[in-house]
Amino acid sequence: GSEEQERVSFGDITLKSMVFKAISDMGFEEPSPIQAKAIPFILEGKDLIGQAQTGTGKTATFGIPMAEMIDTDDSRVQALVLCPTRELAIQVAQEVSKIGRLSNLKSLPVYGGQSIERQIRALRHGVQVVIGTPGRILDHISRKTLRLNNVRMVILDEADEMLDMGFIDDIEAIIKETPEDRQTLLFSATMPGPIQKLARQYMKSPEFVTISRDKLTVPLIEQVYYECKDSQKVDALCRVLDMEEIGAAIIFCRTKRGVDELVASLKTRGFFAEGLHGDLTQAQRDRVMKKFRDGKAELLVATDVAARGIDVENVTHVVNYDIPQDPESYVHRIGRTGRAGRKGIAITLINYREYRQLKLIERVTKARIQRRDLPSMADIVE
Ligand code: ADP
Ligand code: MG
Repeated sequence: GSEEQERVSFGDITLKSMVFKAISDMGFEEPSPIQAKAIPFILEGKDLIGQAQTGTGKTATFGIPMAEMIDTDDSRVQALVLCPTRELAIQVAQEVSKIGRLSNLKSLPVYGGQSIERQIRALRHGVQVVIGTPGRILDHISRKTLRLNNVRMVILDEADEMLDMGFIDDIEAIIKETPEDRQTLLFSATMPGPIQKLARQYMKSPEFVTISRDKLTVPLIEQVYYECKDSQKVDALCRVLDMEEIGAAIIFCRTKRGVDELVASLKTRGFFAEGLHGDLTQAQRDRVMKKFRDGKAELLVATDVAARGIDVENVTHVVNYDIPQDPESYVHRIGRTGRAGRKGIAITLINYREYRQLKLIERVTKARIQRRDLPSMADIVE
């Protein structure tokens, strides 16, 4: 119950011993910069906007104070986390349940594609933290299988992604179902105008915590590019993959069709590749992610949308098979590697016409993307 009073420090943050022990078991020794700055404000009950690149530990930034503040003797929904995708909802739910493991915190991911009956049964059982995608959450609200009148904490996770995906109306409708005196937290890698507007409308004098823009890309990620003709792209990719020591790699394509074609080409050439995009059923997506997590597929080929927020340990390489449309999405993509201080490599393939786009990415992100020459066949055979 809530009588646990022994408190231990996590850096300069003081936590209940059950939460402290759970995060120690997860291997967290020191808070990340955003955690060190934001958690004290959240524990004071303040609204907060947290801006930091992917992979900086934003989930635990709200997960830790959430586990601290939830009343585990009250079985009603007390916190709501909104996420842009199903994969992300599952991932955040896993992290929250690890953090709350010893405090008896009950959390549930709620997303489209999974049987709604099953979710309704689980909700009836008593859930304190609901983590879900906007569409399915609204569905439960209208069926009256989810009541938000006792919610004290609302978290908008990866807010920029949610807005990009057109969830603004859903988000507003959901927020309006929660009490006005709630605490509202918003996390985002970027802060475009619409997010600032959302914050002005629904947050009460929020604290703003940011990890500065010149640290937007993680220095531990080595960034390189190769130039090749479009017609040689598959071969160039295969040569690069053969040269690199790949643990697990995520390869980004612009379109769903591009994903399917590349997966087929890679399989023909003997690589263990799986594709992830929006046309797959939830069961198919789960299977692909499981294979990739378990190391049964070393290459995950994905569109931007499908790969949003995915956090897989030991992703050693991110490959931009198609150069991203804008610098922000470059940052999101390469944030899939070099997670939590591990080293990673980001590789971008371009044709000569795309050179200017690459330079723009370099300028905006203040990154150094180094040119490499394609390995010749001889380099690989050796
Ligand atoms: P973000 O939401 O900022 O993209 P995540 O919350 O997904 O990042 O965190 C990235 C990874 O870092 C996760 O595997 C998480 O468990 C790990 N992590 C978070 N905080 C810490 C910490 N203080 N120490 C070690 N690892 C951490
Ligand atoms: Mg996140």
